[in-house]
Amino acid sequence: MSGSRYPGSVDVAIVGSGPTASAYARILSEEAPGATIAMFEVGPTVSNPPGAHVKNIEDPERRTLAQRASEGPGAGAETVNSPGAVKSGQRRARPGTYLLQDGYSFPGEDGMPVAAMSSNVGGMAAHWTAACPRPGGNERIAFLPDLEQLLDDADRLLGVTSSAFDGAPFSDLVRERLAAAVDSGRAPAYRVQPMPLAVHRREDGRLAWSGSDVVMGDVTRENPLFQLFDESLVTKVLVEDGAAAGVEVRDRRNGTISRVAARYVVVGADALRTPQLLWASGIRPDALGRYLNDQAQVVFASRLRDVSAGGTHPAAAGALSEQAGVAWVPYTDEMPFHGQIMQLDASPVPLADDDPVVPGSIVGLGLFCAKDLQREDRVAFDDGARDSYGMPAMRIHYRLTERDHEVLDRAGREIVRLGKAVGEPLDERPFVLPPGSSLHYQGTTRMGRTDDGESVCSPDSQVWQVPGLFVAGNGVIPTATACNPTLTAVALAVRGARKIAADINSALLMSESDNRLSKQ
Ligand code: FAD
Repeated sequence: MSGSRYPGSVDVAIVGSGPTASAYARILSEEAPGATIAMFEVGPTVSNPPGAHVKNIEDPERRTLAQRASEGPGAGAETVNSPGAVKSGQRRARPGTYLLQDGYSFPGEDGMPVAAMSSNVGGMAAHWTAACPRPGGNERIAFLPDLEQLLDDADRLLGVTSSAFDGAPFSDLVRERLAAAVDSGRAPAYRVQPMPLAVHRREDGRLAWSGSDVVMGDVTRENPLFQLFDESLVTKVLVEDGAAAGVEVRDRRNGTISRVAARYVVVGADALRTPQLLWASGIRPDALGRYLNDQAQVVFASRLRDVSAGGTHPAAAGALSEQAGVAWVPYTDEMPFHGQIMQLDASPVPLADDDPVVPGSIVGLGLFCAKDLQREDRVAFDDGARDSYGMPAMRIHYRLTERDHEVLDRAGREIVRLGKAVGEPLDERPFVLPPGSSLHYQGTTRMGRTDDGESVCSPDSQVWQVPGLFVAGNGVIPTATACNPTLTAVALAVRGARKIAADINSALLMSESDNRLSKQ
């Protein structure tokens, strides 16, 4: 179409610009440097470089504007940071995210009242806490023999370190107290330790939080064959002769619709909108949207006991104070929850907004629980109704099972025990957040070893019925994880991207050898 800002055709069209979509762009730039790549993101660019974490924006007003611009149709609504929201149980989103307007629960079901999304270059990873623990035990995907190497790659892409909070005055203390309560009988990998975080300390001492900018890296930004188009809604994946053939895109700046042909299409549009786009494209495998799972979350807060107020970290003058670091209590199959213990003012959830928060002296404890997976838990789509982007409206069916309630009860008892171990609890009882709070939605485009109707894609993330179509994101994870899933989702994206790169390179080799033969 004339006047379109998009190319007519590319080798690879990528939908979404979060960390998993960006991992495809990065690996393709590294391993298939001759491939043309177009990335389409429905939201605006809110940070510089594109996809950067908004916490790196030092000016608070500019940071708030960037968060608001990421909130799609929810922009302007009050957030959990507004006074009283969490304690009074009001349905509100985290800054930088927005909630489903309807279809989030049905009578007799738990639903997912605070299922949330972000619409901006960088996706949710422009707003995340950046915790990148490795999965353990049953969280791991048993049929992927190379998972550990893929997780190493994901660490590299996300810039994961365990040292960002080294020297935080209270971090050793918090870990020692937790370890005394938890470590007995655990193998070393499962003991209390500093949380691996996609965060590093810059030369000037400030923290830099990784977003999609870090995942893309210079190699993608400097790749002349890579283009990122913001404010571009992909409305359809095009399929010809049963294979992926491109995308249909609506330019949100002027409303025009274009078609971009592509040999490979990667949809990394989050765990709710990836199945939505497949559904809208008429790609509707049985497992699409099913096995939806979120990590039920229990939170608690404690004031550190016996600490003096003097130990301010030199970098605490920045946008975030950083006294207690982030501690990790790993998941085990016996204790199927994952613990994240962090200074409260670095947490996305304000737990005690009535209390005066003395920097570093109050820690928030969070336990995420692994879900009892059910086929009936799903995001479905209503062809007769549209969301605010004009896509098929989501309908979430979600129930906690008896086992989920048992695990939540155990997590509740455990978090009180941990809270007492580190200090003086601020409340008597822990607070169970409403379903959807974890922001870790999984399973909706799940990977399987074989095409048995219970999975959407292969171990390479290729949709079983549609060669050339790949899915990315937490939705691809087939296991019930309790740990934060982004590292694992990026690891799976690395595998998928390598498959595309290998196919492109071998096609190139074949055509070069054909050319040579025809010239002889
Ligand atoms: P996203 O980052 O959600 O990106 C998807 C992108 O696709 C979005 O930008 C969206 O606008 C775009 N899109 C959707 N549909 C279309 C379409 N049709 N056309 C074009 N574009 C489209 N995870 C962790 O592992 N650890 C944490 O500590 C952690 N903390 C978090 C804290 C907060 C406050 C938040 C908000 C999230 C947190 N998360 C955390 C979750 C983490 O950010 C996500 O797991 C991660 O961003 C998912 O990456 P993704 O690439 O799959 O999707």
